[in-house]
Amino acid sequence: MPVCFDIGGTNIRSGWPDQDGIVQIAGKRPTPGDSLDGFLTAMVEMVQEAPAAQRDYVAISIAGFADPKTGALTIANIPCLKGENLSGLLEARVNVPVIVANDADCLALAEAYAGAAKGAQNVFAIVLGTGVGGGMVINGDIVTGFGGISGEWGHGPVVDPTAGGMVEHMGYFQCGCGQKGCLDTVGGARGMENVHKALHQAELGAEDILNAWRQGDAAATRTIEACTEMVARVLSTFVNALGPESVPVGGGLAHANDLIAEIDRRVRTMVLNTYDHPLVVPAHHVKNAGLVGAAYLRPNQMRGVA
Ligand SMILES: [Zn+2]
Repeated sequence: MPVCFDIGGTNIRSGWPDQDGIVQIAGKRPTPGDSLDGFLTAMVEMVQEAPAAQRDYVAISIAGFADPKTGALTIANIPCLKGENLSGLLEARVNVPVIVANDADCLALAEAYAGAAKGAQNVFAIVLGTGVGGGMVINGDIVTGFGGISGEWGHGPVVDPTAGGMVEHMGYFQCGCGQKGCLDTVGGARGMENVHKALHQAELGAEDILNAWRQGDAAATRTIEACTEMVARVLSTFVNALGPESVPVGGGLAHANDLIAEIDRRVRTMVLNTYDHPLVVPAHHVKNAGLVGAAYLRPNQMRGVA
């Protein structure tokens, strides 16, 4: 059984599956972001806190991408890990296999094996948080992708600024990836705020926009129509390409069941297939998706699940 980790820019959290496969949350420490040695020391100590029977291997969910060939990490919010081979460095200290996976891939695993998509062979799990991300399970395996990148449907200059039937041209927003017009800039919480400001010259937080939409506010309704339309257009092409039985939604907007239902309604009118059940649904695992999903990672595989 593995010791599981969820590593973010703020905290490292640990846990392990009990005999029923339920991940028990065990430890939490601040992430030592600027010291590689401090980071590895903290990880070793947290591994040693786990019962010996749990220490067959270490499974890590992280907000970054590990190159499957070199292990080199691409990661924005933990400076000391940039370019480092985390699995190799940690294996040398704990003497058991270490597997590192992207956090959205772990969300897809958690939902495919123990969540909203339980039993599905193909799952495209999407993250609607500050921005837009995603991860895939195809035929029961995660897809790590060339260079460690896959499922990242939030990037690429695809946005149509007239989406939702608008006559106003709301323009393009600069994305953190260097391009303009990525779905990431209009599809998540920050995107809603971008679109609302461009259409109505009003600064409003995403939660306030959602609440105004629920109360029938015309400006917020226009914003949500535009955002859900842009998300649904891109998502429908991914659904056609990947053939998922389920598209669970994680991230900070996962609690907005009505927003997700609106995206689902639009996507199902755009895809080739006919779904007689909701396709885009709230994920079951949001806060603990990294730990739950990491428990389904297996060592000594380029990708996937035993
Ligand atoms: Zn981008």
